[in-house]
Amino acid sequence: MRDILLDRDGVILEEGGERVLSKEQMRFIPGAADAVARLSRAGHRVFVVTNQSVVGRGLISAEQLAGIHRAMQVEVAARGGVIDGFFACTHAPDAGCACRKPLPGLLLQARDHARVRLHEALFIGDRISDAEAAWAAGARFMLVLSGHETSAPLSPRGPMGVARDLQDAARQILHGALAT
Ligand SMILES: [Zn+2]
Repeated sequence: MRDILLDRDGVILEEGGERVLSKEQMRFIPGAADAVARLSRAGHRVFVVTNQSVVGRGLISAEQLAGIHRAMQVEVAARGGVIDGFFACTHAPDAGCACRKPLPGLLLQARDHARVRLHEALFIGDRISDAEAAWAAGARFMLVLSGHETSAPLSPRGPMGVARDLQDAARQILHGALAT
């Protein structure tokens, strides 16, 4: 079964104009925790792939970021699902790293460390930079309109599914509306 890679802010958590800096600021997009759990319970492995330069810029520590991700895991577990892993770029935007999206480094880490088969995987994100990372890694991409982008580009540079939000995306995936 295909692995599902999810961007975090704007897909699972509310972006809210500010990056999430603490567990207390963490707000799930309505239906998103359920959607993650449904995908997991259906047998998909689910990974979070996220740019978190808040660490590299010194706004939060790596431990605080891990705490946010543990809290996300708890919410999904309460619904009978599991997040199989987190891949985060914690570097500052000007650090010149190979993992900050739109570069595909995080997806390559998922391939190398979790044996994600990128050519079968689906990456779901809210930004064109997510799409570019997916395409560069050979993965499929679905844009959700719950975050940064509020409409699908008329001429995307590559193949792109579109969903209103993660709940809608999960429905499309689980009901087989997504061509393989
Ligand atoms: Zn990085």
